[in-house]
Amino acid sequence: MDISIPPEQFRRIFESAPGAFLLMLPDAGFTIAGVSDDYLRGTLRQREEIVGRPVFEVFPDNPLTPEAHSTRNLGRSLARVLATHAPDVMAIQRYDVPRVDGQGFEMRYWSPVNAPVLADDGTLLYILHRVDNVTEYVRQGEDNLRQRSVSEQLSADKLRMEAEIVQRSRELDTLHSNLHEANAALSEYARGAREEAERKNEFLAMLGHELRNPLAALSSALQVWEATDADARRQQELQAICRRQMGNLTRLVDDLLEMSRVDRGEVELQRAPLDLRDVLGSALHAARTLFDRQRVTLTTWVAPAALRMIGDATRLEQVLVNLLGNAAKYSPRGAAVEVRLDAIEHDGCGWARIVVADAGRGIPPDKLEAIFGMFVQVDTRIDRARGGLGIGLSLVRALVDLHGGRAWAESAGLGSGSRFIVELPLAPVFEADLTLAPALASALPPAGAAVRQVLVIEDNADARETLCALLAASGYAVTAAADGHDGLAQIIRNRPDVAIIDIGLPGLDGFEVARGARQALGRDTPRLVALTGYSSAEVGAAALDAGFDLYVVKPISLAALAEVLAAKVPQR
Ligand code: ADP
Repeated sequence: MDISIPPEQFRRIFESAPGAFLLMLPDAGFTIAGVSDDYLRGTLRQREEIVGRPVFEVFPDNPLTPEAHSTRNLGRSLARVLATHAPDVMAIQRYDVPRVDGQGFEMRYWSPVNAPVLADDGTLLYILHRVDNVTEYVRQGEDNLRQRSVSEQLSADKLRMEAEIVQRSRELDTLHSNLHEANAALSEYARGAREEAERKNEFLAMLGHELRNPLAALSSALQVWEATDADARRQQELQAICRRQMGNLTRLVDDLLEMSRVDRGEVELQRAPLDLRDVLGSALHAARTLFDRQRVTLTTWVAPAALRMIGDATRLEQVLVNLLGNAAKYSPRGAAVEVRLDAIEHDGCGWARIVVADAGRGIPPDKLEAIFGMFVQVDTRIDRARGGLGIGLSLVRALVDLHGGRAWAESAGLGSGSRFIVELPLAPVFEADLTLAPALASALPPAGAAVRQVLVIEDNADARETLCALLAASGYAVTAAADGHDGLAQIIRNRPDVAIIDIGLPGLDGFEVARGARQALGRDTPRLVALTGYSSAEVGAAALDAGFDLYVVKPISLAALAEVLAAKVPQR
């Protein structure tokens, strides 16, 4: 079938084709030769407005979107078609179309193709430009992107909020457990306060009772004296009763006053050089009547050599009388008590050790430490009946502490007897130093003000022990080492507040000890004081260089030692 389409109808067919087509001449301006209806609809243009005009005149770039380069891209694509006579597919272009009313542009995205229309001989007749309007598609994509970023933002927010909730709940947990601990501490404190108040009340009741006993005995003795014509023998008996009861009363009141002074930190020791063997002698003498009354046999072993220290003889006697009195009191009639006094060595320093051992009723393990507390007794009913107030051992502990010593109890339990041990720092110093020592000791700042634990590293035994004794007499907790290796190990292990270190030590010298300590402990290194035999500036500089805070020339003067202990040294 021969169908012939009249040539003028081809234009109509082209214009009605479903699709946006633009036909251009391959001339310099790419003059528009024809346009489809779809193209006109898509670009908001009229046919007569654009046909016959150069394409870039009709469709300029939107000046408000400088990032749009579609005319440039179209120009390049058309040039390629001119050159190759082959179709050219362009990437999606943003090309906004001018509004009909001339009021700005409407956003459009296009997917263009430029195809050559060739004559039979291959000459380029036209360039056919076809575009698909993909604005909706791009918009949707952008919306999707926007939505995705919104949902990403949302999930990031959600994660952040979740993390915050976890963090807050952790904080709440910590707060809760702090609160719990604070509550526990508070109720513990309240319990302690209640116990303390109970003990005080019990104590007051007991005190009244204790005072009444000797008072009752005194008053009846006086009444008997007044009411009867007592003969001389009777009078002597009554006097003895009064003296004994006065003695009990005085001891009671003395203990009370002393304990309250200790409690308020008001006890001042009258320090003087003493030999502990003499102090023990006086204590045994004072306690003799107690032993006699209980028919307790006493065995004593005392070191043959002097046990010299600087201390308050009266207070130390009080310590020993208390322990001896308890040994007698808590032993059955006829039992044996053993007292031993000798010298021992601890951490390079000399100590006196006094042991009072009885074969009495013993102490349960859970009470071994508690009995050193005020008014604490193993069995209140029985122990009260024996005339005790429960303050003797607290006094023992406090007075021994003040002398830089320690006191504790040992027992295998009830029925197994007890051992009370007291250790006191000795002062094996020369006589001249001994007479000076009390004055020296009181010139030092009290232990605990800034410094409590002092380590002395010195190989010369006399120098070491003198320094130890001086420090111990002022209440410092003193340890000592005789060589560099032991000294360094003690610094690292015990972390004293101050280490006084001789430079010329066997093993490691003082410099090496200081360097080792700084290396091992860093900022936690105790204050390091160098003891040097030379007062040269080089030695001082070398000491500071090795990590010492201070150097002192031997023999250490009292003023220097006081300064070392008062922490006046600037921290490194
Ligand atoms: P008290 O005046 O009650 O003896 P202390 O403070 O001297 O006060 O002693 C406290 C408690 O320690 C005593 O009440 C007693 O329970 C116990 N105690 C002390 N010494 C001995 C001992 N040698 N044997 C057994 N128990 C002892």
